[in-house]
Amino acid sequence: MALFDKYPVSVSNSQSGEKELFSPINAGNVGMYVCGPTVYNNVHLGNVRTFLSFDIISRYLRFLGYKVRYVRNITDVGHLENDADEGEDKIAKKARLEQLEPMEIVKHYTEGFHEVMRQFNILPPSIEPSATGHIVEQIEITKKLIANGLAYEVNGSVYFDVTAYNKEHNYGILSGRVIEELMESGRKLDSQDEKRNKVDFALWKKASPYHIMRWPSPWGDGFPGWHIECTVMSTKYLGETFDIHGGGMDLKFPHHECEIAQAVGAHGKPPVKYWIHSNMLTVNGQKMSKSLGNSFLPAELFSGNHPLLAKGFGPMTVRFFMLQSHYSSTLDFSNEALIAAEKGFKKLSNALGIIKKLNHSGGSSSTDKELAENLTSLVDLCYTNMSDDFNTAKTLAVLFEMSARINDFKSGNIPLKNISEEMFLLFKDTYIGMMENILGLREEEEHNQELLTGIITVLIDLRKKARQDKNFALSDKIRDDLKALGVQLMDGKDGEMNFTIE
Ligand SMILES: [Zn+2]
Repeated sequence: MALFDKYPVSVSNSQSGEKELFSPINAGNVGMYVCGPTVYNNVHLGNVRTFLSFDIISRYLRFLGYKVRYVRNITDVGHLENDADEGEDKIAKKARLEQLEPMEIVKHYTEGFHEVMRQFNILPPSIEPSATGHIVEQIEITKKLIANGLAYEVNGSVYFDVTAYNKEHNYGILSGRVIEELMESGRKLDSQDEKRNKVDFALWKKASPYHIMRWPSPWGDGFPGWHIECTVMSTKYLGETFDIHGGGMDLKFPHHECEIAQAVGAHGKPPVKYWIHSNMLTVNGQKMSKSLGNSFLPAELFSGNHPLLAKGFGPMTVRFFMLQSHYSSTLDFSNEALIAAEKGFKKLSNALGIIKKLNHSGGSSSTDKELAENLTSLVDLCYTNMSDDFNTAKTLAVLFEMSARINDFKSGNIPLKNISEEMFLLFKDTYIGMMENILGLREEEEHNQELLTGIITVLIDLRKKARQDKNFALSDKIRDDLKALGVQLMDGKDGEMNFTIE
């Protein structure tokens, strides 16, 4: 029996507003799409929370035995300055301001984004497609929407006709927005506007002679609108209907609403079975924003170099801190909350170190029935909490209880001989699996580890050189001194050297 049958998952579908039993379209397989970063800026902590939420979801579904194809895109063109399709493309604007090729900006910030994901132990998606790599498909679907009577061309730009779509379908099905209200609110269209109605949105924009990111199309040189890229990349890799679409709450409208309209308009069916939206990060109770001076870059957090922080915090502490609340709740960020998280994380991570080294000496009978029941129920609770809409907060509470048992095992308060080997292994594997595989928490040493490896490699190279120079006294000294520090060098053939750290 697969774990996903034993612990069926329920998901809060933000389209229905209900918690629904998760049942993928193709049994045993999950297709998941998450809107990735717009790479014109450094990734901030709010973005990290979003990608962490979906990292947990994909990790847990995989752990349960599902085969998951996780697609997270890179928006490297077309994300306009504001949602009204006015203004400049964010990446083109940055390129103009910094006098760079747009692709230099894209490469720089994409690499920065990947580095931050790695620091937080957020696993890479299965596919990471980019908008500029899918221009042809975006043109094709735009042509299809025109042919279906749901889009129109004006002066080299193409707009989606929301009112035409809404005659047969429901624009607002995800966000609950009402088209009549949208039509009346805000600024009225003026004679300069190309759109027929203010709710319409761009599928393709004509490039001005100065616009540097441009591609030929049936409507002349231009670039794609923002919403269309996600419709193209999600359905290309996951099929016209797929299981999970995720993103931050702020993308629900208009971005995701538009994605649904485009997909229904082009393929005739709703694209997504379960919509999942993660909530925002606040700082001392206020919305995180650059203009309020309370937004954080990961590097400021690690160094503590920020007016709101008393010290720096490691990425695993921050990861733990974020997992203490459910992805759908707002999470308030403060110096005090981080200090508390650091203590909490240390407890769990100490217990992880202990249980990894603990071994049962064998024997198969549980003599303490009550204890066995307690341990079994803790194991079950980890799964039932995670299966309950990926509730990491509740799961962490169970792990704290488990860590108390682990300390009892170590101190001898609970003699291991009182529990069966099978029970012990189930408990041990569950604790390690929950901590490392599902919650992605590891000991806070990744940075030092990298540095350490680098330094040892330098010493190994020096030792090789010493041996080539027949300076065996120096070569032996390097080996022996490293050994005294717990670093064991192993001489291989061809003069290669490996090492292990105790
Ligand atoms: Zn998107």
